[in-house]
Amino acid sequence: MNYKVLLLASTVIVSAGLIYALAGASKRSGAGNAPSATATAGESGADVPGDATDVLISARRARRAPELAAGDWINSEAMTLASLKGKVVLVDFWTFGCYNCRNTLPALKRWDASYRGQGLTIIGVHSPEFDREKVLANVQREVRSLGINYPVVTDNEYETWNAFDIHAWPTVILLDKQGRIRWTHIGEGMYTETENAIKKLLAEESEQTKTTARVPKGIVMTDKIEKTDEEWRKELTPEQYYVTREKGTERAFTGAYWDNHEQGIYYCVACGQALFGSDTKYESGTGWPSFYQPLAAESVETETDDTLGVRRTEVKCHRCGAHLGHVFEDGPRPTGLRYCMNSAALKFVKDEESK
Ligand SMILES: [Zn+2]
Repeated sequence: MNYKVLLLASTVIVSAGLIYALAGASKRSGAGNAPSATATAGESGADVPGDATDVLISARRARRAPELAAGDWINSEAMTLASLKGKVVLVDFWTFGCYNCRNTLPALKRWDASYRGQGLTIIGVHSPEFDREKVLANVQREVRSLGINYPVVTDNEYETWNAFDIHAWPTVILLDKQGRIRWTHIGEGMYTETENAIKKLLAEESEQTKTTARVPKGIVMTDKIEKTDEEWRKELTPEQYYVTREKGTERAFTGAYWDNHEQGIYYCVACGQALFGSDTKYESGTGWPSFYQPLAAESVETETDDTLGVRRTEVKCHRCGAHLGHVFEDGPRPTGLRYCMNSAALKFVKDEESK
């Protein structure tokens, strides 16, 4: 390595340090359990450059947040991000000894008080810097004396910190209703901007609820249908049986509905449950009928599917358990979801008025 490269490298390191100081954040070295951090006082309002911070990331581009690692919970039972689907979640990476973190607490407490009732859940992930910050009794005492009422979980092994790829305290991350990372802010400040992002994400949720609320009452049949394999075999064609009961997939561009543009409702071929409306069907180019949203959230259920060596989310009819297809997170607005269905699992009925 020549001298110039070394000089350049040290300049970059010094600049990075400066940026963190400006942002009012404490930097933690990435190395193991012995972080070297310098809590630097900073003016609030400065901003760490980078395209992933301080912009509301579009639902289509946003990545799913990793799950929280196990830890000791204060102020609540153990929670998972999966169980918080449907909520906007603010995750604050902090530690009680970091005073940049303490400076952000008034804003966090205010948001907890203002927006908790509207669907915001704040979780403090306590990722310690020094050994005394790893002692649960100390964290409990500090949480109490700092007047924090929202859930806090300890992260002594930095598992959650590393999974989220965090580098400095405090870092605030906002997850949308689908559990995707939509906003990141490092350091103190940007309180108005972060609050606006919270409001936008909460509003996004009501937009989706509104669309689902259009569905006429009673469209979801809540009774369950259970039949033996033999009975299903008798009622369904071999292809319908293969798809719905054996989790099969029809070949792309071969089904009855991938290219259907008529107005109407798609029902479960096995039990008649209404599943999707033509108004949420879109051209995905995949050769399978694709929708960005079911008619009603309760009409379908999802399950993790690890076959084929990749993790996918299976979509099933809530009433009879028929396999319908999979849901992916590369769909269009407003949900960002792509319900990729098999025509063989559906029965389309055209709207009366559009005939
Ligand atoms: Zn069904």
